[in-house]
Amino acid sequence: MAFIDRAARSLLMTELLSGLGLTLKAMFKPKVTLNYPYEKGPISPRFRGEHALRRYPNGEERCIACKLCEAICPAQAITIEAEPREDGSRRTTRYDIDMTKCIYCGFCQEACPVDAIVEGPNFEFSTETREELYYNKQKLLENGDRWEPQLAANIAADAPYR
Ligand code: SF4
Ligand code: SF4
Repeated sequence: MAFIDRAARSLLMTELLSGLGLTLKAMFKPKVTLNYPYEKGPISPRFRGEHALRRYPNGEERCIACKLCEAICPAQAITIEAEPREDGSRRTTRYDIDMTKCIYCGFCQEACPVDAIVEGPNFEFSTETREELYYNKQKLLENGDRWEPQLAANIAADAPYR
């Protein structure tokens, strides 16, 4: 019986037809794929992407060189050096992150008392060399300037849950 059943299905091409039917049905369903990189999916405000150092609206750096982020980083990816300025305020003279060591845990962001170091929404920062992933203060501040509207919006969206 099994042989007759298999032969009948082969002759009548039922499997082929059911496969074509499934394809036809899927053609009229909403697409589940995205045409990346031209289309991108939604990202949570808590997404932990590329790092950035933020400034206050008057342009002053937020970072007060307390080094909490450096101390808490489990990968020891952050290196900070600091000196007091002439006005007595404490600011970093060096703020480096070795992105090849970073495990994107978000601890630095959590530890920062002034929301200076943050992990932003950018996940498209692949490079051709390792050296390009050794971020210095200038690069981090540039990231902050570039992403500030979205960084501020993400922090505001997450604030009720902190
Ligand atoms: S995200 Fe984690 S591993 Fe990366 S720099 Fe911050 S604390 Fe270190
Ligand atoms: S980024 Fe934040 S936690 Fe790190 S040194 Fe600056 S103020 Fe302190």
